[in-house]
Amino acid sequence: MINDIDYTKIFSEIVTEFKDNDDCGKVATYIPELGKVDPNKLGIHLTTVEKHHSSFGDWNEKFSIQSIAKVLSLTLALKIMGNDVWDRVGVEPSGTAFNSLVQLEYERGIPRNPFINAGAIVICDILVSCLDNPKLELLEFIRKSSGIREIDFCLKIAQSEKVTGFRNYALAHLMKDFCNIHNEVELVLDLYFHLCSIKMTCKELAQAFLFLASYGVNPITNETVISPGRTKRINSIMLMCGFYDEAGEFAFRAGLPGKSGVGGGIVAIHPGKYCIAVWSPKLNTNGNSYKGMRVLEAITTKTESSIF
Ligand code: GLU
Repeated sequence: MINDIDYTKIFSEIVTEFKDNDDCGKVATYIPELGKVDPNKLGIHLTTVEKHHSSFGDWNEKFSIQSIAKVLSLTLALKIMGNDVWDRVGVEPSGTAFNSLVQLEYERGIPRNPFINAGAIVICDILVSCLDNPKLELLEFIRKSSGIREIDFCLKIAQSEKVTGFRNYALAHLMKDFCNIHNEVELVLDLYFHLCSIKMTCKELAQAFLFLASYGVNPITNETVISPGRTKRINSIMLMCGFYDEAGEFAFRAGLPGKSGVGGGIVAIHPGKYCIAVWSPKLNTNGNSYKGMRVLEAITTKTESSIF
């Protein structure tokens, strides 16, 4: 029981209610290694800023967090480079698919936001320019800010994405042509593929993102990850851009800032209250977890808690 709400009971009620509904989603297979996951996994973990935990199902199993990691690379880039980041990438919803090339051509190589693939690739370029050992230092930042030493890349997934990542190569080369990629494409994408390959459990995700519910300080480690002002900006971008061309749909359903990944994970933040992570690998046609979105909608509806 947390502040009079029995989240564990609510999670299990919701999952029971959904049992008879079809899950119309499909596991991502365009990265072959992701296609090997059991499609019926379902994990939920909520951690409050007072450090209370509630969980359900496969909450303690590691999965590929994919684009959810883009929030952490943005956080590190903002810490290092401050507002200059915004000269290279925008803060507007894209309204296009996560890997779209069309908008990038129109907008002369400046991605709409840091969470679509093009934007995250620019953030990786910034990190490659600023860090001596970008992969190691990024991982160290995530481990330190979350307080979880076991967080790591999955080399099999990174490799699987590298050999099939034709579209990400196209995005990076197009931006290089517009002078918005300063380093070798191969180096930048190596960091990008490793970033996307990070594996975490729902519990680890909720802990790693709790600083966004707590004005930039992780209450579990007492580590100041980023300032309250930047926390506000990151949450705002998550609300507007966290679900590709379905950001409006998630805000409408769940009423929380959040970020999804094609591994089937979603992280959502209730500022001042909690961070929740849900994992269900089958994706809808927009690349977001079909059941994950519905579970989060049901949780905020049943508990009558959202930012609105
Ligand atoms: N690594 C994935 C890609 O570049 C990330 C997509 C996602 O999680 O939305 O396609």
